Parts: sequence; C-alpha cells; structure tokens
Amino acid sequence: MIHKALIGIGSNLDLPAENCLKAISILSKSKEVRVASQSSLYESEPIGNPDQPWFVNAAVEIQTNLNPEELLQYLLNIENQLGRIRKEKWGPRIIDLDILDYEGQIINSSTLTLPHPEMAQRRFVLEPLSEIAGATIHPLKNKTIADLLKEQPNFPIVKKYSPHK
Ligand code: AMP
Repeated sequence: MIHKALIGIGSNLDLPAENCLKAISILSKSKEVRVASQSSLYESEPIGNPDQPWFVNAAVEIQTNLNPEELLQYLLNIENQLGRIRKEKWGPRIIDLDILDYEGQIINSSTLTLPHPEMAQRRFVLEPLSEIAGATIHPLKNKTIADLLKEQPNFPIVKKYSPHK
C-alpha cells in the first residue's frame, strides 16, 4: 500500500542549503520512498535562540510503503547519516527531518506526534509546504495549509533562498 506524507527539512550548520539538498537526494534514491514533489529552498530567521545562523528550509511530498513509525525511524537514520548530533532543543542543527503530515492521521505516541505539533504556527514550515501542498487540510485546524500561511505574522523573516557570495 502506497501512502502520502509531507516532510519538513531544515538546516543551519556548515552548508545548510547543500545539507537540505543532500537529504532530498538521499530520499529520492531510496527504495522505501519516492519524492513526488519538492518545494523551493527558503531561508529563515532562527526562532528560540537568536544567537545562531539562519536556517534553510524546504518541504517535500513523498510516497512510501513505510508506516508512520517506520518512516520516523527512517528519517532519523538519514539525520544520523548526515552527521546530526542532538544537543539543545532550539539549537543549531546540521539537518532536521520532520513528518508534518501522514494522510491526515492523528497520532500521539511517545515517539511521534502527528500532525507535527508546531507546523500550524511556523511560517518557515508553511511557506515551503504551501508551494507543494497548499490545498491540504490540516486535520486538527480544519484549514488548508495556504490559509494557515495567510494567518502568520511577517516576523521572524522567511524568504526565498538565494546563494550567498
Ligand atoms: P527534533 O529533531 O528536535 O525535531 O526532535 C526529534 C524527535 O521528535 C524524534 O526523536 C521524534 O521521536 C520526535 N517527534 C515527534 N513527532 C515527530 C514528527 N512528527 N516528526 C519528527 N519527529 C517527531
């Protein structure tokens, strides 16, 4: 059975844009996952701890035969493969892969919360996501991703990524 999931990607260490693209490339080469669509890259002001580099964010829609828990483990493996070391919750990170939505399922287990608890109030998630899944309904808010994006304040800043010289 093939399922559809939305994945959020973020990085703010080393070469963040390359890290995001590397994660997408690993996903698209895997047997378990097919990348159906991919957003542009965005850059976003850090929240929580402002004393860290800006983030690069993206979102992808995937098709997979993994169930939500298997998909989570699979994404954690990719994070480890890319050298993620878990430290502080709001601190800098080489790569962060989140399951944002899995076919509208609502899950609250010790390891997995779906839909992702912070997606509805984070512009750096909603902005790339609305490019590829603007009409998708948030299963708890009963609003589309595009409508949730419209409700977001303009700060912290999220803008299309352009390579820095
Ligand atoms: P972080 O990398 O700081 O975002 O936290 C990752 C941890 O959050 C993982 O070890 C998961 O067990 C947990 N988690 C809960 N819900 C989700 C989700 N929807 N997507 C990814 N990780 C999740």
